[in-house]
Amino acid sequence: MYANALFDFIERSPAAPLALHTVEERLVKAGYQKTAESLIPSLTAGKYYFVRGGASIVALCVPEAPARAVIAAAHLDSPALRVKEGASRVGAYVSVPVERYGGLILYSWFDRPLSVAGRVLLSTESGVEERLVNVDRALAYIPNPGQQAPNNAATGATFNMAKDMLPLLSIGGAEGDLLSAVAESIGMEKEKIVSHDLIFYVRDKGTLAGRGEELLLCPRLDDLACAYAATEAFLTAKDTDTLKVLALFDHEEIGSSTERGADSNFLSGILSPFMQKYGAPFFESSLLVSADNAHAVHPNHPELSDNSKTPVMGGGIALKWSASHSYATDARAAAVFKTVCERAGVPLQTYQNRADIRGGSTLGSIADTHLGILAVDVGIPQLAMHSAVESCARADVKAMVDAIRSSLETKIVRTENGYAIG
Ligand SMILES: [Zn+2]
Repeated sequence: MYANALFDFIERSPAAPLALHTVEERLVKAGYQKTAESLIPSLTAGKYYFVRGGASIVALCVPEAPARAVIAAAHLDSPALRVKEGASRVGAYVSVPVERYGGLILYSWFDRPLSVAGRVLLSTESGVEERLVNVDRALAYIPNPGQQAPNNAATGATFNMAKDMLPLLSIGGAEGDLLSAVAESIGMEKEKIVSHDLIFYVRDKGTLAGRGEELLLCPRLDDLACAYAATEAFLTAKDTDTLKVLALFDHEEIGSSTERGADSNFLSGILSPFMQKYGAPFFESSLLVSADNAHAVHPNHPELSDNSKTPVMGGGIALKWSASHSYATDARAAAVFKTVCERAGVPLQTYQNRADIRGGSTLGSIADTHLGILAVDVGIPQLAMHSAVESCARADVKAMVDAIRSSLETKIVRTENGYAIG
């Protein structure tokens, strides 16, 4: 269940602006209307969505007199190689200078067919016009430095971002540079491109793996698997007196502190009129479910995990904890979320950092800094996070959809000394 739909979602979402477009198509089909952020205070019951920076999106399903908000959040960006201006030439070779976007595992990108996606700004008679781009063919690859190189992977050495990671675009006088290929893909002349926001992405397609085809091997599972699950749950959760919210952010991989990241006023600006109008009962009964993948216990390196020996792939979704609050989960929010999952029959595991290893972080705590509501960080347990191709269990994708859907459907009410959950 969900595997092929997830692969299709990921294939159509090689860069955050295209991922947004993929989600937007589904929202429009379901009757959601694109709305300006300035119109939020006047919103009545209905279905709306808001876009910021062309790569972050918040959708609302507003009932009459909402009693709480439940927010399903995830991120749309993935580690990648960002295209710089210009080209590098060594003899007949033409390579493309790139910068690291997020914490990608460099050597996993060698010798794979790469393509380019994102957006360009085109010059028009009246000004400039934005256009999404996906060249969608094997346009370049990064040749492994090979056995003769002193820092070959076999030695366990690391690679240099500025020296080793330039994608090779052409040899022997092949016509044109990267931007001419990009322009060609949208039927324009290269001279029309005023500026660009492009990344290289790996073109591997998602595939089922394992003895029982129980595993998914696919690029960008972090965090498009959760973005997919959140969207699916949001669109299929039944209507109650909950204000249902879908919040999918760009720029998580670079820290979220941008105009459209989780550290911006995008989500809080949309929700604060509701908080003000419906007051403390609404505010105190609201929940943020931030979904971003978790490191599963590694079969060859179990010692890297916490000694609780979870989470494992296929064992259910992981509830993430950190004393530093790099994960938003606290005891109150965990109690509410655990109860929701238990009643819905969703398997839940625990993710905690090994006490002497610094773990990752995600957008839950960052977003909740601006909201101040109950919040949990959860994730699909996966292996090879930030590798070119990652893996997770198909059963856990379903568990994530079920967990988020149940959260959106459950009535949470703040009581004097706890929460009524029903
Ligand atoms: Zn992530």
